[in-house]
Amino acid sequence: MASVRVVLLGPPGAGKGTQAKLLREQFDTCQISTGDILRKAVVDKTPLGQEAAAYLNRGELVPDSVIVNLVGERLKEKDCENGFVLDGFPRTIAQAESLERILKTMGIRLDGVLSMQIPHDVIVDRLAGRRSCKNCGALYHRVFDPSTRGGACDQCGGELYQRDDDREETINTRLNVYETQTAPLVNYYGQRGKLSEIDGVGKVDDVHRRIIQALGGVGN
Ligand code: ADP
Ligand code: ADP
Ligand code: ZN
Repeated sequence: MASVRVVLLGPPGAGKGTQAKLLREQFDTCQISTGDILRKAVVDKTPLGQEAAAYLNRGELVPDSVIVNLVGERLKEKDCENGFVLDGFPRTIAQAESLERILKTMGIRLDGVLSMQIPHDVIVDRLAGRRSCKNCGALYHRVFDPSTRGGACDQCGGELYQRDDDREETINTRLNVYETQTAPLVNYYGQRGKLSEIDGVGKVDDVHRRIIQALGGVGN
């Protein structure tokens, strides 16, 4: 199977995490979801978690230096040898520039950046109904993709929970943060010829197919 090295870009709720899991399975790459890594660090009360907790609660970005070091280390791990799916990183121009430097020293390049787009009202519906498994991280939606076992995960039986930052006030902050700090990456990657725009509305499988189509020929 061809290797793939991609970034999933898009506002909160665009479906980055959902699609990252599918790509990881299909291409046997690693999946680097910075939000997942940070939330786990908070639960485990590691030094990283203690530093990051307040930012996550407010819906603001963790400082670039913290996140860049974390991703830089993660990319060196063995399961990333066959490629990677970056979900939620980079989120600022400075992070994108750091990523470029990191990949250069590793002698590899990004295949592409998938910019997932959904309208504002869909974002709010998706975030308000999002549920995640405490144990394995599987994603559900209260309405669009409910677990068949009520409050328990279909895959592992773990407890489903709603993220603290998926509440209305924090959602607004996160959308503002996206518009001001992350959306400029669409142009950044567009100018570098890396960008594919993906319509994020529709069934999960349909969105996945659009992504595969956009990646056509990648890594061959
Ligand atoms: P979503 O996918 O809903 O946008 P994430 O799970 O990716 O949310 O991120 C949750 C939170 O983790 C962010 O609001 C931010 O506080 C922090 N975070 C995640 N990735 C980054 C990053 N690349 N840079 C800075 N902060 C980040
Ligand atoms: P992001 O990582 O971009 O914040 P997620 O992948 O966590 O987004 O998806 C946000 C919520 O929307 C989750 O509850 C997920 O189950 C749901 N979701 C993801 N993709 C779709 C889709 N194509 N249609 C309907 N709901 C979706
Ligand atoms: Zn689970």
